Amino acid sequence: MPAFAPFDVHPVVRESRETLEDREGHGPIETIKFVLQHSDGLETESVIIPMIRADRVTTTLCVSSQVGCAMGCTFCETGQMGLMKSLTAEQIVMQWWVSTYIVGVRPKNIVFMGMGEPTDNLDVVLDSIQILVGHDGGCVPATNITISTVGNPHGIARIGELVNQHGFHKLNLAVSLNAPNDAIRSSIMPVNRAWNMETLRDAIVAFPKFGKGAMCIEYVLIPGVNDAQEHCDEVCEFLKGIRCSLNVIPYNPRRNSPWGAPSEESVLAFIARAIANGQFTKRRGTKGRSQMAACGQLGNEEIRKRKFVGLGVSAESARESTP
Ligand code: SF4
Repeated sequence: MPAFAPFDVHPVVRESRETLEDREGHGPIETIKFVLQHSDGLETESVIIPMIRADRVTTTLCVSSQVGCAMGCTFCETGQMGLMKSLTAEQIVMQWWVSTYIVGVRPKNIVFMGMGEPTDNLDVVLDSIQILVGHDGGCVPATNITISTVGNPHGIARIGELVNQHGFHKLNLAVSLNAPNDAIRSSIMPVNRAWNMETLRDAIVAFPKFGKGAMCIEYVLIPGVNDAQEHCDEVCEFLKGIRCSLNVIPYNPRRNSPWGAPSEESVLAFIARAIANGQFTKRRGTKGRSQMAACGQLGNEEIRKRKFVGLGVSAESARESTP
């Protein structure tokens, strides 16, 4: 297990909450987004999400593995920032620590679905998982941890190596598919130009399977892009033979998004078609949209602007050096 040095506690610089009345009678449920600031001024965003489970509400902590992201998915707020830095294991574990001891919510589950692509910072992500599951760390069972990837096959293979190790057999993998074919996927996810869907499928099929667990395939439903009934048929065909759950996520518009959120009818129609095709399908509940805390909405506009000033020549210094 990697050494776990005592860490500097970064301040929570912002916290926002969205309270919704749960329709199943659990009373008000709260989504909490909190922002930590590092000594370099950059920030990580994390979200505590309530999850309804039959008779009770549990919590999932969505952690970031990077500030910004290099993958450039066109529908994602974080992708618009570009990559600003990769986090250290300490900075990832810090998000769990702050949730538990500062915000006061000890999460049951941890998902690497916040800012960043985990396979782009994989050594560190795997180290942080060792700490989170450790008895002198977070004591979070591996079965309650999910790594979500955009579909880097080498990263998937390396996560598979960890899953093959004793104690990690039930670590979960989620893959963001988001498209029915290469043309559409390449247009919204540049990573598909490096590794197409066939390569991705091979990596998914080769991923080790233990017990009855099913891999999670995420599908952000974007109106007019990937939400047609024929698209659904193509997705189901692509997933045939893979034991997986198709998780349909109604699109949460990023800032300046060319697309809105899908209509309720189109979400229901897509899910109904997938089920009719024999595909096990779930809907991801929409939480935190009003506070830019929902899936695909993390990212700070101010910091994004700062990056471009930092990388180039500021307007002021340009004026000063102009003869
Ligand atoms: S969806 Fe994930 S991989 Fe794509 S840009 Fe956003 S954070 Fe990065």
